[in-house]
Amino acid sequence: MEIDGLVLRVNPYRDYDAMVTVINKRSSFSFLARGVRKIQSKNSFSVLPFAYSHFDLMKTKDGLSLKTGNVIDSHAKLRDSYEGLMMLDFIGEVTSKFIQEKELHKTYNSIQRIIELLENGFDHYTLAIIYLAFILNESGYGWNVKACQKCGQKDDIVAINTSTGGFICRDCFDGQNGAKLSSRLLKIIRYIFMVQPEMYDHIAFEKDECLVVLSLLEEFILTTVEFRLNSLKLLQN
Ligand SMILES: [Zn+2]
Repeated sequence: MEIDGLVLRVNPYRDYDAMVTVINKRSSFSFLARGVRKIQSKNSFSVLPFAYSHFDLMKTKDGLSLKTGNVIDSHAKLRDSYEGLMMLDFIGEVTSKFIQEKELHKTYNSIQRIIELLENGFDHYTLAIIYLAFILNESGYGWNVKACQKCGQKDDIVAINTSTGGFICRDCFDGQNGAKLSSRLLKIIRYIFMVQPEMYDHIAFEKDECLVVLSLLEEFILTTVEFRLNSLKLLQN
């Protein structure tokens, strides 16, 4: 069985082996890669995180196992930069915490686009909040950013409720059911929950703005989804 795909996750297994999860447009699959953690392994470069490779797999009684792997696009530049490594760590953690194994391929277009933009030097803070919003949408935790979540009106939105994840209008805002935000921040939040991968580079936000949005998303994830994301710490420094 031969397939091309992007390495999303590599979990060390036994002394020299690894369990590798790969995604492409249509599917996701995991296989055992024997010996890839030995220095002399000819397959090791093909299973580095976020390498795009061609894999020749065989079926065994325990599942799929790697015969040979050949790198098509190593994305090495990303793993060589601090921002790149941080983003790979962030994407890896967020994706595996929120998305079930059989649904992983649904993240492919978004991740592929982010890799392309990071390699072109596009702002990683903007991409981080876009990806987090994308994952919340995909996992059913997307925020209601189209109208006030209480009364449904579209105008005069003034606040966001970070425990329910939705917009609140001036009439419904009672001072306690959310955090009042500037119209600019509300627009950014609306944008990240609606933008499609081909438009990810439409606009880059200021670092400070992204960090505010990131902490609002983090608060929602901690209180409502009850996940702690370790990779956020590095991004927030
Ligand atoms: Zn309202």
